Amino acid sequence: MTVRKRILVKGVVQGVGFRPHVYKLAARHALGGWVRNDAAGVTIEAEGAISAVKAFLRDLSALKPAASRIDSVVSSDLPSSGEKGFRITRSGGRAPAAAIIPADLALCPDCRRELLDPSDRRYLYPFTNCTNCGPRYTIVKSVPYDRPATTMASFDMCPSCRAEYSDPLDRRFHAQPDACPDCGPLVTLSAGGRELRGPAALETAAALLAAGRAGALQSLGGFHLACRADRPAALARLRRAKDRPHKPFAVMVPDLAAARRVCRVSPAEAAELASPRAPVMMLLRRDASAFPGVAPGLSRLGVMLAYTPLHAALFRLLSAKGCVAPLVMTSGNLRDEPICRDAAEAAARLPDAASFILYHDRPIHNRVDDSVAYFAAGEARLARRARGHVPEAIKLASGGRSVLACGADLKNAFCLTRGEEAFMSQHIGDMSEPLNRDFMRETARKLSGLLKVKPSAVAHDLHPDYASTSEAFSFPGRKVAVQHHAAHALSVAAEHGLDGPFLGVVFDGTGYGADGRTWGSEFLSFSGRRWRRAAHMRYFRLPGGDAAARELWRPAVPLLRAAFGEGWRREAGGIFSGVSASAVRTVERMLDAGVNSPETCGMGRLFDAFSFIAGVRTEATYEAQGPMEMESLARGGRAYRFEVLDGDGGLLLDPSPALRAAVADRLAGRGAGHIAASLHKGLAASAARLAARIAASDGLDTVCLSGGVFQNRALLELTVDAMERRGLRVLLNRRVPANDGGIALGQAWYVLKGYSPAE
Ligand code: ZN
Ligand code: ZN
Ligand code: FE
Repeated sequence: MTVRKRILVKGVVQGVGFRPHVYKLAARHALGGWVRNDAAGVTIEAEGAISAVKAFLRDLSALKPAASRIDSVVSSDLPSSGEKGFRITRSGGRAPAAAIIPADLALCPDCRRELLDPSDRRYLYPFTNCTNCGPRYTIVKSVPYDRPATTMASFDMCPSCRAEYSDPLDRRFHAQPDACPDCGPLVTLSAGGRELRGPAALETAAALLAAGRAGALQSLGGFHLACRADRPAALARLRRAKDRPHKPFAVMVPDLAAARRVCRVSPAEAAELASPRAPVMMLLRRDASAFPGVAPGLSRLGVMLAYTPLHAALFRLLSAKGCVAPLVMTSGNLRDEPICRDAAEAAARLPDAASFILYHDRPIHNRVDDSVAYFAAGEARLARRARGHVPEAIKLASGGRSVLACGADLKNAFCLTRGEEAFMSQHIGDMSEPLNRDFMRETARKLSGLLKVKPSAVAHDLHPDYASTSEAFSFPGRKVAVQHHAAHALSVAAEHGLDGPFLGVVFDGTGYGADGRTWGSEFLSFSGRRWRRAAHMRYFRLPGGDAAARELWRPAVPLLRAAFGEGWRREAGGIFSGVSASAVRTVERMLDAGVNSPETCGMGRLFDAFSFIAGVRTEATYEAQGPMEMESLARGGRAYRFEVLDGDGGLLLDPSPALRAAVADRLAGRGAGHIAASLHKGLAASAARLAARIAASDGLDTVCLSGGVFQNRALLELTVDAMERRGLRVLLNRRVPANDGGIALGQAWYVLKGYSPAE
């Protein structure tokens, strides 16, 4: 019996080789009909024997292209028309309103094979790609996503490429960035006043890298600074130029086998590393002393695979020269500025770090950094959301009029909503840097243009002095201020489509509180469309303000004074042997006078103090350095006790017993690993006990954990475990970071759902 069906496929199905997939399946099952891209996704009409149509529907999902994602397949019956052949028909003429602009895709296995095959016409050609891989978001200027709308518009296809592009059975059918050495972009090497083009440029860049020089490489979404990971002198030069004495660098390796030589890689981690997203993955190192200077003091190393043909070709040339070391690949920027986009910027802004620049003539329209991912509590999570994820939509449980959410000031990313979809921008960075504010404005303009939305409301952080707050006021629309930690908690609720009451437990660095004080250890109870602060850690003062974030002994002084009282010097003075006595006295006078000592209850600051008390670190050169090193050391231990007190505005978590125990352990010569582990275990158990108490009194059973401190994998997993053992359901961030990079999603959800503080 012959049947005809109309099939609507939604999801990431454009620009990822879906129509050729459909075409091939139709041929295999001898079906008649057609397929086309349209506003909703992909529409198919298929006609043939009932069993063949059934098999076609099964294979449609089962054999889908690697880079695609199917959200739904809906089919309906049509009268059969006797159609025999199968066609790919033109997309609808109007710009598809709901079409999804695909994220950039890492080099696929087929293109890699061709790239490394000396007999292939694209042998070592750094811009090879197909419908399964290559640039997308980074080159797209407008929709619909078609070659004239990309930065490939100025390249005319040669007859060979044109033939591939036009053949529905070819892997490069309608691959918009399709190119070859005869017609596509070329690399140029600029070194010591000389310029080389094409294969000679690549060859010379590889020779310079092999010889231990550092260079700037134009990658997919911007420039990298690269050098061999086994050359400490080159690393030291990069660190001086970036003014970054210890902050870990990521490395790139050619393949999974090379990653496994350096780190332990679980099957799930391997799958994520080798996925089209190809993030930097935080992996456990086999030997933490290998490659000194790359990630000092840390048990984990950020590793990514060569994800563009340019990188893969470089690694092939390097190995031919006997160099098998990983390459350090760090964002091509100075400190916190945006990543460089073209050779002129790289030459102007990276003068000391790079002894050569390898650039190319396929312009980067949208700058995108590398994404950073890690496995924790059984799933891949994001520390930085950028390449490979942006601008993929996050599906919301409900929608409303478009919202622009401006995020926070550190690790800024903003969010635009369209109906029930949330589009997070790529990682923008630190908004105190003027170039990042320009980057945010530029990206907001481009993204709203691509999505064709005009936000009617603009959400921003409650902090009146945040640059992201003042940016919010430069956009038209109703302004809504959202408390920082409420937004963190709601970022989890938004991801999970959570509607009922829940408790947000947010452990964070700092955030502006509804009472004007600095918050950061919040137990926020959400019920209906109201939220209230049910508990937090006891406040303490931060002597010296910003200096207390660098000099980790500073927050230890007020915390130990509170824990031990008047006799604190007698009891705990011994651990200050590495700090000048006069500096400690100055800090005490500041505390007594209440001068330049803002109050905080930021959990990040408590961890800073503990890393000093544990003897791990007195001063930090990057955010969370002490806590990250403690997590690396944590071993054994017991569980330090935190006390729960009744405070004026709710319950208080008091770390004093834990601080006293840590000092005793330090003075008794128990190692930093013991103290770190005891802190993690104790805080997890106490947070779970407190959460269970609030859950019982507020009649809820779901907890959302978020905030930058929960990027600490040890703490996260212990806390989830302790809460689940108390019968709580625990939800975590998956698709946006738990740090401030995920805030904008929570802000947008706050506005869409109409939340407000309980009063
Ligand atoms: Zn490919
Ligand atoms: Zn060509
Ligand atoms: Fe935060």
